[in-house]
Amino acid sequence: MYANILIEYPVKSLDKTFTYEVPDEYIDVIKVGMKVKVPFNNKELNGIVLDLTNDKPLYEIKKIIDINKDIYLNDELLSLGKFISAETLCPLISAYETMLPPALKINKDRNNYDLFETYIYLNEDEDFVQSYIDSKKNIDKQIEIIDLLKGGPILKKELSSSVNTLLKYNVVYEKKEKKNRINTINEIEDSIPLNEEQEVAYNTIKASFDKYNAFLLEGVTGSGKTEVYMHLISDVISKGKSVIVLVPEISLTTQAIERFYKRFGENVAIFHSGLSIGEKYDEYLKIYEGKVSIVVGTRSSIFVPLKNLGLIVIDEEHSDSYKQDTTPRYDAKDVAIFRCKYHNVPLVLASATPTLESKARTMKDVYHLVTLTKRAKGSMLPKTYLVDMGREVIKKNFIFSEMLKDKIREKLDKHEQIILLLNRRGYSTFITCNRCGFTYKCPNCDITLTYHKEDNILKCHYCDYTKDLDNLCPECNNKSLSFLGLGTQRLEDETRKLFPDASIIRMDQDTTSKKGSLKNILDEFSSHKYDILLGTQMISKGLDFKDVTLVGIINADTSLNIPDFRANEKTFDLLYQTSGRSGRDTKEGEVIIQTYNPDNRVLSYVKDNDYEGFYKYEMNIRHNLFYPPYSYITTVNIKSYDEGLALNEANKIHDILKNKISDKTLVYDVTPSYMHKINNIYSYQILIKYTFDDKLKSILKDIDNTYILNNKVNVEITFNPSKF
Ligand code: ADP
Ligand code: ZN
Repeated sequence: MYANILIEYPVKSLDKTFTYEVPDEYIDVIKVGMKVKVPFNNKELNGIVLDLTNDKPLYEIKKIIDINKDIYLNDELLSLGKFISAETLCPLISAYETMLPPALKINKDRNNYDLFETYIYLNEDEDFVQSYIDSKKNIDKQIEIIDLLKGGPILKKELSSSVNTLLKYNVVYEKKEKKNRINTINEIEDSIPLNEEQEVAYNTIKASFDKYNAFLLEGVTGSGKTEVYMHLISDVISKGKSVIVLVPEISLTTQAIERFYKRFGENVAIFHSGLSIGEKYDEYLKIYEGKVSIVVGTRSSIFVPLKNLGLIVIDEEHSDSYKQDTTPRYDAKDVAIFRCKYHNVPLVLASATPTLESKARTMKDVYHLVTLTKRAKGSMLPKTYLVDMGREVIKKNFIFSEMLKDKIREKLDKHEQIILLLNRRGYSTFITCNRCGFTYKCPNCDITLTYHKEDNILKCHYCDYTKDLDNLCPECNNKSLSFLGLGTQRLEDETRKLFPDASIIRMDQDTTSKKGSLKNILDEFSSHKYDILLGTQMISKGLDFKDVTLVGIINADTSLNIPDFRANEKTFDLLYQTSGRSGRDTKEGEVIIQTYNPDNRVLSYVKDNDYEGFYKYEMNIRHNLFYPPYSYITTVNIKSYDEGLALNEANKIHDILKNKISDKTLVYDVTPSYMHKINNIYSYQILIKYTFDDKLKSILKDIDNTYILNNKVNVEITFNPSKF
């Protein structure tokens, strides 16, 4: 027997198949879609079996070395890979690599993955630990670890390398433990009876259980969308079928996942980038072996090998996290449509603020619209106020307006909770010299550095470059550096100064980088250990705290000003979703939006909780500017360490496109990309707009092929980019 094998190249993704002989011992077990190891140019490379044949090739061939017989891609996933490769112009091999867990090793033994994890325990002899601390100098890092361990054992890999010294002196010891199953809560809760509106939505979707149909479940925040699809899921699994539920970044949705565990217990697997490689493999196997019927996870969970799929739900469908912006540049929504059609089952897209594209599709009956108009618990949508910061600065109120200050005071006195949103982390986002105008920029990126007060450093948020802050301006040597632009760290400081009696917690990338820290913050805020939660857009979604009655948006203008045709839509989503965190239970909620553009239409739609109004307003703009959903957009980014070369090749590509593409398709001139220089790589962009162009893909494919082996210039083609 002979196998055609798609080889995984370590450097470039190239679609090349080669034929190998199948050794006798594997003839009965080898299958199309299996991962194998083969000899290739004196190396051993991985590959995937694409087909099997008995026709002996005419030339001499080598034998397969090893196979993984535990897991293979089934017919559905094999054809899905081809679909993704054709749609996104990615190599087939990279589509398949995306579908399989990274820990999938080729090995004859089963369970070759990391089943055990090493935990570090503090020596129970407190006197011994103390005497160690007293006997040493300069061991701050070690003491930090000791302090952490006082709260209980911690995974070794989460601690800094100073732990090794502590191990050597027996101040701590290690223990290997069978890895915790991720799923630990098992108190199953009963489902809540649906209200009338929910019942209608539920029945409409249920009527389509045995055929493909895509539903847009549009419902205001807190209207009970999750409850509706949980009821649907119950029905689907009772018929022995399985369900995928996609959520945006998992960090935002710990609460959602707990709800699933509480309702469906051990029947749930979770899948997201926060899992270790071993954990991912664990969950993948559970799914593969049919031990669970529900998978809740982020974008890449759309590929899980659940058999007998009965329903796919995409929650917060407007989130741009569903589009992957590296190869393969797939959109999880398109993959969901493919899979639902394959199985003849419904797809549910849920959101309070659907993308304009999805909403427009309901107008054309491509999606079926199902709406929920009221909050399930009967609470009112929050009351929203816009505050003109232009008038406040005259009164020297730079961060907090009079009104926001008063409202925070009022809520604190009533022992209610407050959320403050500021979409920029760090202390100050812009440092400039008052005398010579010098600003700190990242040497690798064309971006200003942000000051982080806690570590007293300047940091690039794109490449993580850091630098100590100088006392004097490095340019003119004067002591006149000033800190402009507000970040979350400074907001925290200022809030503490104004409300010294309030307990405050901050949530942003800097406070949540350690595993588990995010969940801690949420749990503690939820149990009302803190009065005020402040943070970046991380706090905007999916969170449900019953005592929050005030949301303050510190600066609504930051996201309006990003150069992206979706800036309005993204601003509306962010503000609307954040506002939706206020007054979710029985107490009435309020929202204060501070802005320098109080007349901005987008903000007035947010104020009125008016998604429909916003939709009409923004559709009109898109129509006039021929932007999606009135057109499709594709971007071609040309990148190189050599700026001139990038520009040169970009112009060449531009000319090829102009010559070959149909008249109706618009090809814009080459421009520097929005992030022109990141990590010393320069990027230029060509924007293409069209309504229908059946030749575009093949022309772009040719261009892509021309550059695939070029190691000086990289060409990235993105259909329907979520940002650019
Ligand atoms: P959404 O997903 O639309 O934001 P959720 O499903 O999270 O809404 O519901 C919001 C809140 O209302 C949750 O606390 C939920 O438990 C509650 N809820 C949902 N449906 C009902 C219902 N039919 N009766 C009572 N409470 C409900
Ligand atoms: Zn940088």
